[in-house]
Amino acid sequence: MSNVDKMCLRLLVICFLPMIAAVPIAMAVSAFNDAFVRMGALPMSPDLPWLITLVAAAACVILFAVQAARIWRWKEGRSLSCPNCGCLLGGIREGRWGPHRKCLGCRNNHAERSL
Ligand SMILES: [Zn+2]
Repeated sequence: MSNVDKMCLRLLVICFLPMIAAVPIAMAVSAFNDAFVRMGALPMSPDLPWLITLVAAAACVILFAVQAARIWRWKEGRSLSCPNCGCLLGGIREGRWGPHRKCLGCRNNHAERSL
């Protein structure tokens, strides 16, 4: 697996996080709703699990668009690249030796003043 593959994988894995978080929440809401109905209470909202899943899917699509735009800008040469492997650099972080950026491919730190 090349550094570019690792970079793309790291960028795109983030897109699935809303769905990974929302599916158990929707299942729990559905189970509570079913339990309340079995106890004889009025159901909360039968569409709430689907609404949670729909919002999470929309967040996944938005995150995918943002990450795809980052990859596209990197391919166009309009974003900072790693001096070692040429992959996209992450955001500025404060570290022990000053501000730096982490490469999304080789995971090395690069000082902001040297870029
Ligand atoms: Zn690198």
